[in-house]
Amino acid sequence: MAKLVYFFGSGKAEGSSLMRNLLGGKGCELAEMTNLGIPVPPGFTITTEAWAEYTNRERRLPDGLWEQVLENLKKLQHVAGVGFGDAKRPLLVSVRSGARVSMPGMMETVLNLGLNDTTVDGLAAWTGNERFALDCYRRFITMFGDVVLHIKREAFDEQLEAVKTRLGVKTDPEIPAPDLRKLVQTYKDLVQERTGAPFPQDPEEQLRLAVQAVFESWFVKKAIEYRRINGIPADWGTAVTVMSMVFGNLGESSGTGVGFTRDPRTGEPHFYAEFLSNAQGEDVVAGIRTPEGIEGLQSRMPAAYDELLQIADRLERHYKDMQDIEFTVQEGKLYLLQTRAGKRSAEAAVRVAVDLVHEHVIDRDTALLRVRPADLNKVLHPRFDERDKARAIAESRLLARGLPAAPGAAVGKVVFDADTAVEWAKAGRTVILVRPETSPEDIAGMYAAEGILTARGGRTSHAAVVAVGMGKPCIVGASDIAVDEERRQFEAGGVIVREGDVISVDGGAGDVMRDAVETIQPELSSAFTEFLGWADERRSLGVRANADTPEDATKAREFGAQGIGLVRTEHMFFAPERIAIVREMIMAPDSAARRAAIGKLLPFQREDFVGIFRAMDGLPVTIRLLDPPLHEFLPNHQEYKQLVEERSRLEALGINADRQAKLTHLINTVEKLREANPMLGHRGCRLGITHPEIYGMQVRAIMEAACIVAEREGRVEPEIMIPLTGTIGEMKLTYEQAKRIADGVVAETGVPVKYSIGTMIEVPRAALIADQIAQHAEFFSFGTNDLTQMTFGYSRDDVAKFLPDYLQKSLVPADPFAVLDQEGVGEIIRIGIERGRRTRPGLKIGICGEHGGDPSSVEFCHRVGMTYVSCSPFMIPIARLAAAQASIREREAGSGAARG
Ligand code: ADP
Ligand code: MG
Ligand code: MG
Repeated sequence: MAKLVYFFGSGKAEGSSLMRNLLGGKGCELAEMTNLGIPVPPGFTITTEAWAEYTNRERRLPDGLWEQVLENLKKLQHVAGVGFGDAKRPLLVSVRSGARVSMPGMMETVLNLGLNDTTVDGLAAWTGNERFALDCYRRFITMFGDVVLHIKREAFDEQLEAVKTRLGVKTDPEIPAPDLRKLVQTYKDLVQERTGAPFPQDPEEQLRLAVQAVFESWFVKKAIEYRRINGIPADWGTAVTVMSMVFGNLGESSGTGVGFTRDPRTGEPHFYAEFLSNAQGEDVVAGIRTPEGIEGLQSRMPAAYDELLQIADRLERHYKDMQDIEFTVQEGKLYLLQTRAGKRSAEAAVRVAVDLVHEHVIDRDTALLRVRPADLNKVLHPRFDERDKARAIAESRLLARGLPAAPGAAVGKVVFDADTAVEWAKAGRTVILVRPETSPEDIAGMYAAEGILTARGGRTSHAAVVAVGMGKPCIVGASDIAVDEERRQFEAGGVIVREGDVISVDGGAGDVMRDAVETIQPELSSAFTEFLGWADERRSLGVRANADTPEDATKAREFGAQGIGLVRTEHMFFAPERIAIVREMIMAPDSAARRAAIGKLLPFQREDFVGIFRAMDGLPVTIRLLDPPLHEFLPNHQEYKQLVEERSRLEALGINADRQAKLTHLINTVEKLREANPMLGHRGCRLGITHPEIYGMQVRAIMEAACIVAEREGRVEPEIMIPLTGTIGEMKLTYEQAKRIADGVVAETGVPVKYSIGTMIEVPRAALIADQIAQHAEFFSFGTNDLTQMTFGYSRDDVAKFLPDYLQKSLVPADPFAVLDQEGVGEIIRIGIERGRRTRPGLKIGICGEHGGDPSSVEFCHRVGMTYVSCSPFMIPIARLAAAQASIREREAGSGAARG
């Protein structure tokens, strides 16, 4: 007969921490604490294997289980010196759920089991406290009714409230015994009425039903949801712990509480707890009464308080991590009822890890592995006060959900266009820019806004990429909102939000809420800096930033960037004084006019590059030559319609022939440049080949800037990058063109600047012929946004239309534009690296897509031997930590293998 039940009590336990999978988190740690000699009420745990058998056998208890339970129950009665169902000294137990990972509040627990009409009087006589015994009984009927008999808790609570109202008291300890006795009768009547049977009086039957109900609580809806969100397998199941009750509701020298060994919000090293006197555990957790601070315990029961702090300290040292504990004091005597690693904020995670190293409890590698890289992001952005956000949602102020594109919390007045955003921001108002989708022209508005919300677009849509780069909270693809630009309002679920109305945007969760939700500002602590310093010592993968301006570059260095992996030169074309020249260039009737326009752009670009080189102080800077199709710089759809209307009007009136001619030219150009599929159209190096003068100007600007900076400051390292290469011909031609001009500038200025010319690998074909490409490319950078788009054949601007469905149906494990698809896209990368380095060993290889800031993608980049990852400045801490973790794990795996 398999062992299905494990006992713990009087200083000895059959289980231990090592049996987490079998006994669940709660059960195994109760066993562990018992073995440590910490005061824990005795009890026993039914294994998850018993649960599995129960589930497999159509919900029948496994053979022999009940015999083992009764045997352990006998032992328990012996140890506790009381009898289950005994009329004089009854044993009461709790029946608790517990999975191998904690699922707080998701499953069920029943307290005070063993009470019936006889034992309740025995308990009253024995303790000399009738009120207490009845209080336990009414709690038991409520929890048993709820968990086992499926009568909604509210049905009981309503009766309790009615009694309190009738007596004119606020809290339940104020209800005197006679009224409690009546209440218990009301509860029993309620059970009879709802189930057609009396409340079960046989303690053994109560126990069997409760064990079964706790087994079943694995399948309640909230538990299923929680497992789905947290990726917990459905077949892990729950253990059931049955343990002797201790009573926090035995009067003023009793009470119950929950505590953290350190502050879970900040990580500060002080005990952080809540305590309720004359109460049972579920009162604290359910928030029925507002708990006092731990001072209540300290002042009234100083000995129990001191012991609690000592135990907290001991548990922390034993588990080498911050603990979250449950405790109860019964007439001055302390008992521990649970311990587990405490959930904590991102800030606290870093602080606790660093402090534990300083306290010599853990080593640096362990500390580095303790913090989830993605959480670092939360430290760097303002965030919503969780309680206030929960309140907003409870008040039905949730307007819509979209894709969480860039994390952080933003509150502001709604505006519907970039100009208004800029204007209002200048006037000192904080605004949220709401657009059907954003285009590069909205940049100024996005800068001015506190947060961004779009109805369309995916995670690598323009709005998302730019917002992440700016560190602005952003939600895209919120398809529940209908934006009406003309009437300056949007509609969501029947609610109309007008320009100027306040909304709150949670970019990390994708939630849009009406009115203001309270925010909390981040602070970069010394612990954070020290922690990332340790990460840098461990990692071998370089970390660079994607940055388009000197300001971004400066921020990137503050966050620890070792260079810039991507400067997008087109963003420099959108500044108001430049866009006119860019349009002049595009619409030039002949090459002389085009060259004249280009000549005017040159000084602007040169100035940009000087600023960026200076900010990076000699670190490498990769500059991508013009990438997007030219029509992006021309009037958009709306403006185009206006142009056509204006022309018809002038034509009809027969006036202003000059303006008409200009309009016609503009309209014709827009039409000529219109493409059916611009993402796969005339862009990237294809532009550089058909318009060599544009790339020529950009290379000249880069090299002149480099020479200026080299001459004055000395150090500069430009890397000129050709986008969207797919064939050897494209690579060779663009390489040679660029080189000729670059060498020309060096010769003219006489400043010997070292530079390199390389390419993005984003067309799958380029990766496949990487050995040839590498003959003419001095470095590679994987543009994984486009590479993912072309490998999957998913348009990144249209994914929002189907991806949510795909994710929900688990057709893809994650958004491939956020988390690198290692199996497909990753394979292409592997091939590209291997073939590229076959031609050019030691080839410098990076990645500059959105994936550069995603932890699992960074780990992949480390494994395939990339030189660096490049990501937006705000993601740099994440990449630094993820790279360090990749190194540590690799070393651990390596030494494990060596040991065999
Ligand atoms: P959850 O997982 O929801 O926290 P628990 O099984 O931990 O559920 O129990 C709920 C509450 O009841 C906790 O506050 C716990 O401390 C308390 N509790 C559980 N067992 C006992 C017991 N034997 N004596 C006193 N209080 C208990
Ligand atoms: Mg608990
Ligand atoms: Mg690209």
